[in-house]
Amino acid sequence: MLIIGSHVKFSKNQLLGSVQEALSYGSNAFMFYTGAPQNTLRTPINDLYTIEAYGLMKKNKIMLESVICHAPYIVNLANNKDLSKYRFSIDFLINELERCRLLGIRKLVLHPGSAVGIDRDEAIKNIIYALNLILDTTDEVTVCLETMAGKGSEIGINLEEIKTIIDGINKKNLIGVCLDTCHLNDSGVDINDFNTYLDQFDKEIGIDKIKVVHVNDSKNLIGSRKDRHENIGFGTIGFDVLLNVIFNERLENVPKILETPYVGNSDEDKERLYPPYKFEIEMIKNKKFDENLLSKIRENYK
Ligand code: FE
Ligand code: FE
Ligand code: ZN
Repeated sequence: MLIIGSHVKFSKNQLLGSVQEALSYGSNAFMFYTGAPQNTLRTPINDLYTIEAYGLMKKNKIMLESVICHAPYIVNLANNKDLSKYRFSIDFLINELERCRLLGIRKLVLHPGSAVGIDRDEAIKNIIYALNLILDTTDEVTVCLETMAGKGSEIGINLEEIKTIIDGINKKNLIGVCLDTCHLNDSGVDINDFNTYLDQFDKEIGIDKIKVVHVNDSKNLIGSRKDRHENIGFGTIGFDVLLNVIFNERLENVPKILETPYVGNSDEDKERLYPPYKFEIEMIKNKKFDENLLSKIRENYK
């Protein structure tokens, strides 16, 4: 069965609001940030919302393994030049794992980090050191390292780097990988030949380590190292190639999560942006590209 959903908010009624939003898109999976992705301010978890969310998930057959938390992208485990910042990132992620535990969430997606001025090998050592400290505090939550586009000095931009990090982790059962199709494309992977990539992944790391797939089209050409997501079928990767990822039998039980951009309504109303996920998911299920999808979304929200 296809397991698909999108990034959703966590701001209104916490997990309950996230489940409701996911259901409104026809999803049976979803991913959320416990607060704004670009900051580390977090409100305490309210168990009442969590309990209600569980009821709603059960009723709609959303499995816990299909619910994913994404760590904020400003924490950086790769650079330890400023020790207090490095320590802050570690402490934040320890708290984030605790929030996941309170929510019953088993998968946390993490950007490995950026070297910013230090040697890449050093940066990778810092990530490994930090992740071992972090994973020492849990036996329940798997940290999924996201494959990165290679923007700036990002780490995790090829199989070798991901493998090196995983090799250094003590609790191997608590480390996994999140593939992001836009990032793979931008880092130089030819997704037209996705099965060859999966073969390589399997040989180097083991395909069972893939716990999440972020399905995004890309605004930029292969190898551009840019990281700008595009709506499904409207970018350089294309609809059919993304369908082959989404329906690839080897990843059948892995949740597919859309992080495609919101769609603007009109010129006079630039502020208003609308989620494309209900429409993209429908199009994916129909397996047929609709070149008018974006204008239909704008129409729908008018
Ligand atoms: Fe991400
Ligand atoms: Fe992503
Ligand atoms: Zn991205």
